[in-house]
Amino acid sequence: MVFEFLKRRRRRRLRARPFLKEWLKLIQRHVVFFHKLPAFDRAELLGHIQVFLAEKRFEGCGGFVITDEVRVTIATQACLLLLHRDTDYFPGLLTILVYPLTYMVEEKRQVGEHVWQEGTVSRLGETGRRMGSLVLSWGAVKHGAADPSDGKNVVLHEFAHQLDFENQAADGVPALATREQQLAWSKVMTSEFASLRAADETGIPTLLDTYGATDPTEFFAVSVEAFFERPHALRAYHPKLYAELQSYFQQDPVEYSAEQTSATS
Ligand SMILES: [Zn+2]
Repeated sequence: MVFEFLKRRRRRRLRARPFLKEWLKLIQRHVVFFHKLPAFDRAELLGHIQVFLAEKRFEGCGGFVITDEVRVTIATQACLLLLHRDTDYFPGLLTILVYPLTYMVEEKRQVGEHVWQEGTVSRLGETGRRMGSLVLSWGAVKHGAADPSDGKNVVLHEFAHQLDFENQAADGVPALATREQQLAWSKVMTSEFASLRAADETGIPTLLDTYGATDPTEFFAVSVEAFFERPHALRAYHPKLYAELQSYFQQDPVEYSAEQTSATS
């Protein structure tokens, strides 16, 4: 397709553009994992950031003003998910809305078979398959960028949802190339999700955030956070889950993670 050809050419040119020194300084100052990446990954990442920033729109909400620091800090973390893969740069996503801290939403949640609870809840981020947008709290984004190994990262979480949507369904399964990969993925994820649910019900401490027990979609997003932020622990305690994520992302975060590990592990 002509359109596809032009899009690829435009992106190739964007990736090859010299990266702005001011942007690089912002990344070096605010995004801790960047320093740990091998040099060739850093170069690839900067290319993806150029495409991302050229294609996605940012909007400040609740009086928040979008600056280069905001754009670059979000783009750097989101583009970590794109390294080493031939991707379409989160195709369903057009706009990133940023609030200063947490933001409040009206939510109706089912607490029993016929019982619904309504109320205002605070959120750090959200996105949806048909939203075309992704919402983030700048406070949470900054915290995620400054601490790359606490297992929590709102940008990785929300953009993982965007990857989940790429195969047209919000089901915890990203676009996988072959039927074999889909089968292997589904086998591992089903059993890992069931154990997280069981642990959540019995109150056993877990490496994965028990928010992942909500449904397979959240399970995927929470696993992605752990994969990039606690890779040593995830590989040790959930080797099959780690292997599936490693094969999908074509990355081994153990190699560059800032995660503190004991001398014996
Ligand atoms: Zn989520």
